[in-house]
Amino acid sequence: AVYGPREVHPRHLQEVTRAIVRYRYNMASFSVEERKRPGPDRRSYELSKVSREALEPVILTSFFPRSVIDVFVEVLQADAGTRTAGINAASVALADAGIPMKSMISSCAAGKVGGTIVLDPMKEEDNFGQADLPIAMTPNGDITLMQMDGNLSKEEFRQAVEMAMKGARDIYELQRRALVEKYSQISAAPGQEGVHLCE
Ligand code: UDP
Repeated sequence: AVYGPREVHPRHLQEVTRAIVRYRYNMASFSVEERKRPGPDRRSYELSKVSREALEPVILTSFFPRSVIDVFVEVLQADAGTRTAGINAASVALADAGIPMKSMISSCAAGKVGGTIVLDPMKEEDNFGQADLPIAMTPNGDITLMQMDGNLSKEEFRQAVEMAMKGARDIYELQRRALVEKYSQISAAPGQEGVHLCE
């Protein structure tokens, strides 16, 4: 969910020249097999921070001084890749909420499992694999998030980044299509002729 731009509370967080962006990643206690203790923890603070930093560079925050744009990501079912899925959903939600952005952000991870570089690892592959490398990027390939767990050789790293970037490019197409489909339906509906989305 995206709320805003709206007034900042507490007010001392206000920035006079731009909007601030807040991002809350939360994994529901029932989203994983082994019940997760509810509430924030180190992992959710980290994921909230890196996800916010992945999106912030494309949001035109200077349009809304003294305000806040709040992004809430609630993970209801987890099988690894939740930070990347959250960023993808948040990017579409920001565009859908009419927040001015320079571009979309698309995110995907690559990993190393059993000596092979794979795309979008699932939980077992992530937890027992040798490496996990999530990225987020603009459609131009400007990277706004890159993290890595585990070890990769230089060549494996190059291969993993290339694979994750290709995954992100495929996701960008799906994000774009979702928005185009929604707004072309709205613009086709009677009384909504004013809504247009440029392809
Ligand atoms: N996970 C879990 N319990 C936790 C944290 C994570 O079962 O307390 C699982 C969950 O399926 C998650 C996966 O481990 O998606 C990988 O977690 P990671 O921290 O690598 O983040 P993600 O890949 O989801 O971005």
